[in-house]
Amino acid sequence: MFIVMIATECAPAAKVGGLGDVVSGLARELAIRGHAVEVILPKYDCLRYDRIHGLTKCYSDLWVPYYDQWIHCDVYFGFVDGARCFFIDSHSHHNFFNRGRFYCDHDGERFTFFCRAALEFMLKANKHPEVIHCHDWQTGLAPVLLYEIYQRLGMTHPRVCYTLHNVAHQGRQGEQILRQGGLNPGALMKPDRLLDDRYPGCANLMKGGVVYSNFVTTVSPTYGQEIRNTHLGMGLQRILNVHHQKFGGVINGIDYNVWNPEMDPHIARRYSLGTLRDKYANKQALRERLWLRDGFKPLVAFVGRLDYQKGVNLIFDAVPYCLDHGCQFVLLGSSPHGHVNEAFWRLKLRFNDHPDCHLEIGYHEELAHLIYAGADLLLVPSEYEPCGLAQLIGLKYGTVPVVRNTGGLADTVFDADYAHKPYHERNGYVFNDYNWTGLESALRRAIGLWYCYPNYFSELMANGMRYDWSWNHSGRDYVNIYNYIKAH
Ligand code: ADP
Repeated sequence: MFIVMIATECAPAAKVGGLGDVVSGLARELAIRGHAVEVILPKYDCLRYDRIHGLTKCYSDLWVPYYDQWIHCDVYFGFVDGARCFFIDSHSHHNFFNRGRFYCDHDGERFTFFCRAALEFMLKANKHPEVIHCHDWQTGLAPVLLYEIYQRLGMTHPRVCYTLHNVAHQGRQGEQILRQGGLNPGALMKPDRLLDDRYPGCANLMKGGVVYSNFVTTVSPTYGQEIRNTHLGMGLQRILNVHHQKFGGVINGIDYNVWNPEMDPHIARRYSLGTLRDKYANKQALRERLWLRDGFKPLVAFVGRLDYQKGVNLIFDAVPYCLDHGCQFVLLGSSPHGHVNEAFWRLKLRFNDHPDCHLEIGYHEELAHLIYAGADLLLVPSEYEPCGLAQLIGLKYGTVPVVRNTGGLADTVFDADYAHKPYHERNGYVFNDYNWTGLESALRRAIGLWYCYPNYFSELMANGMRYDWSWNHSGRDYVNIYNYIKAH
């Protein structure tokens, strides 16, 4: 099968969070299964060019409609982690992809242009994929453009799969964005099309993706239920229920070529289930690297975006709690919100001289690997979590996750004390209520087990490592979905 993904991230060249991992991981899995996969991305100025191999200009005469003008683009080709990627480079004073960041202001305009450019490129380059797979609101307009414009121009073949990675961001825009894309707002600004259900007069690009795609997935079964039936749908509940027959949850995998303690080049000592003791060398290496003292203490870590969704208030309170309860704490993260970053900077200054605490405010791919390998416990106290990759990585590295019972966390982490499963299938700690009492109840149990029952703790680590959260199962699910939409 020939599959084209249109996306705004692909790790490691373009990664802000899990979306980047998912696009490259799924692309690799599909290729392993014998499918031809290509990824179309913007050619951002902030790409990690050192992680793109063989980048060359492959198409230089692409003209993309923009209102009543045409914008000239070049297209580059290169390999990202083995995936065949095309990068759209636009030449206009708008500087769509040269903003020094992957996401910023006026993203609606930039990514509407990107969707149009991606389809125009496929048309002009004579690409006839059987499936186009789009991701999140930024590419929600691609299926709309396909069925409203490009089908009539000859692209009758492709079917579209659309994945919702996080419905907190739906791409609500003024209706002029449709005009920019060459679409007719008069026809599309209707409740069963792109008209937002909550904000009168707004076009909702994610809703457009849901309505026009042949199949819609989200990144875990529990999150799928939550966004259909609870406030977590953030206004999409109605349209997801209308289209429930073409909607399902497929849990994300992680790429075990990238996230695997047996072959990770970024960690101090490689280890596996059989050599779990070697994990300790990574704890020591992490302590040395971050100037933490040696000692008989569990190391608690958080790695992730410091977004409200991730439970920043709870993480904030967890730092002094862990230090007061005989733990070390390491945090790696940065926030899209300036004042959250500032608050964590203040916390960092407060504990600057503390021998058991290190807060690293920023983004650091390689350090993240060493933290996953060196830590004993991994905090993921999210208010909501569509899938969450951090806990899957933690499990693979024998780092016991402490998570809230929501979304993909609920589907992948099973409480050591309360899960309805035998002990050998339990792999972490889970709490229900999104407040400090909730998190404290789980953290206290986890720290207690580490100190008082080390054998049970080691068992829990091993249980987590035995789970297979690679793309193996989810890749098969996506192929089944692609085959289904091809046949209908
Ligand atoms: P989300 O997609 O909401 O950001 P996920 O848990 O699905 O959350 O994926 C997060 C991914 O991004 C993981 O691979 C995590 O290691 C990585 N990550 C997040 N923040 C950082 C950071 N500051 N430095 C390095 N890696 C990070």
